[in-house]
Amino acid sequence: MLKKRIIYNEFSDWTFDVLKAKGSFIWNKKGNKLIDFTSGWNVTNLGWNNPEISNAVIKQAKKSTYAPMWTADEVQNRFAKALTDSLPKSLVAVGRATGGTEANEEAIKTARAYTGRKKIIGFKDTYHGQSFGTMSLGHLPDYVKDISPMVGGYMQMDFPKVRDNEKPGVTLNKFAKKLEKILAKKDVAAIVTEANIITGWGTTFVAPRGYISLVRRLTKKYGTLLILDEVGTGFSRCGKLYGMEIEKVTPDIATFAKGLSNGVAAIGAMVTTKKIADKTYDKSNLTSTFGWTPIACAAALKTLQIHKREKMWKKAKRDGEYLMSVLRKKLGKYKNITDVRGIGMEIGLEFSEGSLVDMVVKGARQKGLLLVKGEERNIQIMPPLTIQRKELDRGLDILIDVINSKAR
Ligand code: PMP
Repeated sequence: MLKKRIIYNEFSDWTFDVLKAKGSFIWNKKGNKLIDFTSGWNVTNLGWNNPEISNAVIKQAKKSTYAPMWTADEVQNRFAKALTDSLPKSLVAVGRATGGTEANEEAIKTARAYTGRKKIIGFKDTYHGQSFGTMSLGHLPDYVKDISPMVGGYMQMDFPKVRDNEKPGVTLNKFAKKLEKILAKKDVAAIVTEANIITGWGTTFVAPRGYISLVRRLTKKYGTLLILDEVGTGFSRCGKLYGMEIEKVTPDIATFAKGLSNGVAAIGAMVTTKKIADKTYDKSNLTSTFGWTPIACAAALKTLQIHKREKMWKKAKRDGEYLMSVLRKKLGKYKNITDVRGIGMEIGLEFSEGSLVDMVVKGARQKGLLLVKGEERNIQIMPPLTIQRKELDRGLDILIDVINSKAR
């Protein structure tokens, strides 16, 4: 859809002009105030237009605004240290990028260059970016038929999501057998996944506990690199500063974007080990004209400082548990609500039919709550982590009210 000269994709139905945004609220052009349950899809974790981050950017803009890729501005060095200091000890080398797509491309290029292998494993119906390489990971052929051919050498597996009719241990065992059979051929460069939950595609599918540790164990055994996409799970969203902390797993490569700068500036990061960086820096072709502008780094540095200072992940865990328990209690009686699941403040509300999702999203919008449709039958709830309990309750009231009038 083309609207005022901007092309919108499948989210066309949900477009609207924003007048202003602050904290957990967004105002539309008519001046209507909406409680935000989207964070712009895991971006504004510290609230919209966080003034501390804006001030850091203004200060930086008066000092320097650009550094070409063969140089480093001092704020880039400072942010590289702060970011890697917040990660497991072995992750010390940073590739500069402009967002999640680019960070994941850098990760895949690095993995191929390091291992000398070509095969990359992704999971069906996952989102890791809009480039051909990242879409080859999770977009099924039907989605990309008009833009194919995709990139060669990719394999897509089924994500081992928790299922009603199967014990989590059984799901995990079946998956382990399949994965080991593939990895045992020792020709897979990397497996790309999120930590235990699908945030990017909007299904909010959760894997059984033990998933990411299992992937770590098997990848290590067969010389495959583990690329952990932390674009959605990172920055306190899942009740820990990073998703990798959920099962205390250290990947070979982690990628970050979105909440990294709280949406203030475009930035992404690929972080890996010294050993991998030393062996690949002159082979992997990492070049990004706008990766890590000083302004984006100033925003990201302040963002990380706030997460750590406020221990934002603790509040996310508390609020997420609260949200899920209220939704389960109040909506459990409806046959139309088929699941409530999630980790931290990333919560999926699954309906029996897609048409209900559309009705609920529209109905909530009219009553002052901003939701976004996750996937066909799912609403992915992801409020700013700074949201006050009063605002959270108000949003929940609206959501439950709308569902009460639509569900059976
Ligand atoms: N990975 C995940 C998990 C994402 O959710 C997204 C964005 N939806 C990306 C990667 C791509 O990030 P970007 O849009 O910054 O390229």
